[in-house]
Amino acid sequence: TDYLARIEAQNPTINAFITVDRDGALAAADQADVAIAAGTAGPLAGLPIAHKDLFCTEGVLTTCGSKILANFVSPYDAHVVSQLKAAGAVSLGKTNMDEFAMGSTNESSAYGAVKNPWNLSRVPGGSSGGSAAAVAAGMIPACTGTDTGGSIRQPAGLCGITGIKPTYGTVSRYGMIAYASSLDQGGSMAHTAEDCALLLNHMVGFDARDSTSLDRPAEDYLHDLHRPLSGVRIGLPKEYFGDGLAADVREAIENSLAELRKLGATTVEVSLPNTHLAIPAYYVIAPAEASSNLSRFDGVRYGHRASEYKDLAEMYAKSRAEGFGAEVKRRILVGAYVLSHGYYDAYYIKAQQLRRLIAQDFQQALTQCDIIAGPVAPTAAWGLGQMADDPVQMYLADIYTIAVNLAGLPALSTPAGFSADNMPVGLQLIGNYFGEARLLNVAHQLQ
Ligand code: GLN
Repeated sequence: TDYLARIEAQNPTINAFITVDRDGALAAADQADVAIAAGTAGPLAGLPIAHKDLFCTEGVLTTCGSKILANFVSPYDAHVVSQLKAAGAVSLGKTNMDEFAMGSTNESSAYGAVKNPWNLSRVPGGSSGGSAAAVAAGMIPACTGTDTGGSIRQPAGLCGITGIKPTYGTVSRYGMIAYASSLDQGGSMAHTAEDCALLLNHMVGFDARDSTSLDRPAEDYLHDLHRPLSGVRIGLPKEYFGDGLAADVREAIENSLAELRKLGATTVEVSLPNTHLAIPAYYVIAPAEASSNLSRFDGVRYGHRASEYKDLAEMYAKSRAEGFGAEVKRRILVGAYVLSHGYYDAYYIKAQQLRRLIAQDFQQALTQCDIIAGPVAPTAAWGLGQMADDPVQMYLADIYTIAVNLAGLPALSTPAGFSADNMPVGLQLIGNYFGEARLLNVAHQLQ
């Protein structure tokens, strides 16, 4: 009830929640109390959490930040939701997000922009901006998020919290509304690396309902947190410290790296020579997959349906025209274009080739170091509305996060001090496949 009271007090200002499930949360909390008294409680019994509003939740609205799903109540729980429930966690509601997770500021949500709790005139980042703002404002101690091109790490960085995107295939995508299936990955967001590790422990695991889910032995992400950092080699990609990086962000990152060296780590310069190809490759592949995934929203089975139409084709067209926002429509158009006959080879196939080169860059760099460190975003949080009319400018701000998704690697954002105007800065740590425990260890030592 403490957290519900905080949400009720702060949400009208911050707008981090689309749905607050007061009744469901109180009932689940009662059940957790009973389980604790009976000695049958799960490891997260009574822990208040919230889910990004693209995880399907049985009986609770799931909008994906879109008007097209304004009335959608899922008949089932996402894998992540059912696992956290089984561990005893109590969901207090669903957090705001960019529509269909497309965006870097949360301004594309049909439910209004989220405000950054550190400065209410700034964006919280996106697309998991509601999750990041909710944690940063103390409305919830931990939250789920998803990351297709930075959507956990970037809002975590801009809101001064910790957020981890695990290796692709580690967290089941079952019940997670798809944006770009080959890039989408769920993860955890909380104040500390330790809390992220705890939540992640109960999110991962093989699930036959997701064809890309990996069947691996269970791992305890809390186990390595206290390992000393002596001997850890941290690679600094020279492409991540070039001209595009704001001076105050660079300074905060350098200070964190100095701290890591004091803790015994060594730093070495590495190169990711195809970094400049990541944005063009991502902004072909992600819209291509999105245009296919979003074809299911047709007004027939669920979601918004236009009220007047002559025939089936017009019903589809009107329902989609009314239900989707401008950014989603832009991506569907781009996606349909790059997949169309005659352009497929020139754009889509080309982008897949670049994707391979980008993944190879990381493998090459990781022969010289154990993890890679750099900024999460080129600047600290910018003003609400500042980039809203300039999609290309906004896409360019994803430069340090999207290559990781193209390669499928794990990465996190951990607080690294403040910008010149007192906004949080995030340090990004990138690991090799299944290197989550090492990333959480380094972040924990730094915190
Ligand atoms: N900003 C990126 C995009 O708009 C990443 C979003 C995400 O990770 N979901 O596609």
